[in-house]
Amino acid sequence: MKITIIGAGPGGYEAAIMAAKLGAEVTVVEKKEVGGTCLNIGCIPTKSLLASADVLTTSLEAEKFGVCNDHTTVELKQIIERKDKLVTGLVKGIEFLFESNGVNLVRGIGKLIDSKTVEVQLNDGGVEILVSDKILLATGSVPICPEMFHYDGEKVITSTEALALKTPPKSMIVVGGGVIGCELGQFFNHLGTKITIVEMADQILSFEDESVAKQLLRQFKREKIKVLTANGVTDVKVEDTGVVVTLTNGAILEAEMMLLSIGRSSYSKGLNLEASGIKVDSKGQIEVDERLETSVKGIYAVGDLINTPYLAHVASKEGIIAAENMLGKNKTAVHKAIPRCVYTDPQIAAVGLTEKEAQQKGINYKTGSFDFRALGKAQIIGKIQGQVKIIVDEQDVIIGASIIGPEATDLLAELTMAVHLGLTAEVLGDVIHPHPTLSEAIMEALHDVHGMSINK
Ligand code: FAD
Repeated sequence: MKITIIGAGPGGYEAAIMAAKLGAEVTVVEKKEVGGTCLNIGCIPTKSLLASADVLTTSLEAEKFGVCNDHTTVELKQIIERKDKLVTGLVKGIEFLFESNGVNLVRGIGKLIDSKTVEVQLNDGGVEILVSDKILLATGSVPICPEMFHYDGEKVITSTEALALKTPPKSMIVVGGGVIGCELGQFFNHLGTKITIVEMADQILSFEDESVAKQLLRQFKREKIKVLTANGVTDVKVEDTGVVVTLTNGAILEAEMMLLSIGRSSYSKGLNLEASGIKVDSKGQIEVDERLETSVKGIYAVGDLINTPYLAHVASKEGIIAAENMLGKNKTAVHKAIPRCVYTDPQIAAVGLTEKEAQQKGINYKTGSFDFRALGKAQIIGKIQGQVKIIVDEQDVIIGASIIGPEATDLLAELTMAVHLGLTAEVLGDVIHPHPTLSEAIMEALHDVHGMSINK
């Protein structure tokens, strides 16, 4: 079985390796570096920068731990160099995996000719025609940059340019208080940039539990990050000194730079979808069935290109399922328990329904919660802010959970498993959690669902 995959982001590259392991002859077409958005300009680089900011925050508190550290300085150039080195190493890792699994990498721009044929404009010049039994489209997404924002990559930037700045700007307006806006806004704030976040919705992280968003907002206020919710941008002027932005409430903001983080859109430019008869929805996302096959038999699509959450772990999982289905299995892409992570300080992680969503669905739910403040381990590491909240339905089944606090993104795994498997608070609460660890907050919140938390 011959398979051609266009795009080597998490969706495409994991599909390629899985298909090769299952015995297929696989060719991946990639116009840039393997690893896609996630590895080169997304998840990994942002978290590398935020890890540097964490070291800064910790070192500023060193004295509280009895450690004397008088000379903390920050060099954005070095933070970026560390990030670049890390990314290069991981890119090489994927190239090695391709080689060791016999995946053929063709560097160029892929385009569909028909349901079996891909034409590649090779990066080194010339054209290659690839004929295969099945094709997977995994070309990802790009930042949304409406014309009125006058994106120029210098004063008006997206996350891509923000991840390569050599010096922090004095001031920055962040348009969009979603995950990317909050993470990068707080990062530059920690480096001394004066940040103003403008958000259309009534709360930052509009898709998360209100209580969690409120706690992050309180932290932003403590850090002097200005947040203007329920506000849109009506006008943007780019001047020699920076950017002048007018808001819907009439306020005028000025800053050296503006970061545009209002979302991303599926990227299918140049794929020649129309000629191939592949159905696309009004948002430009390719329509797929539950097996991830498009309206054209034999052509599959995954990741940011389709109508599922734009997350690396969703793309990878879909890539693996698509590969299995292309090779004769009959797997369904289930999106029941998708972890949502925000790498701010404190971190936020959630899965399943928020309280508001449970209310909207008319579910007779109960909640349990536990504050990190009351936990030995949180006191030990000096990170006492935040809480775990669990939502259960009438049968005690865990239908949602959110964590704001230390290592929230790693702690979420057991709650994701609980939502995925439909476990009850009682069953998961019976599991022995090690002491002293942050995971005890989850156990206490589970017990609190029945009013039985010992330490609350
Ligand atoms: P992509 O990773 O976008 O890969 C698509 C690939 O296709 C690219 O390499 C592109 O060059 C290539 N391509 C496009 N067209 C063609 C063509 N015609 N021919 C050949 N190649 C082509 N997600 C998380 O889960 N956790 C996070 O912490 C996180 N942080 C993020 C931070 C930022 C700043 C950004 C921007 C995104 C973040 N994401 C995060 C989202 C995550 O990066 C994406 O959801 C994920 O990369 C999507 O994977 P994909 O395989 O669908 O597409």
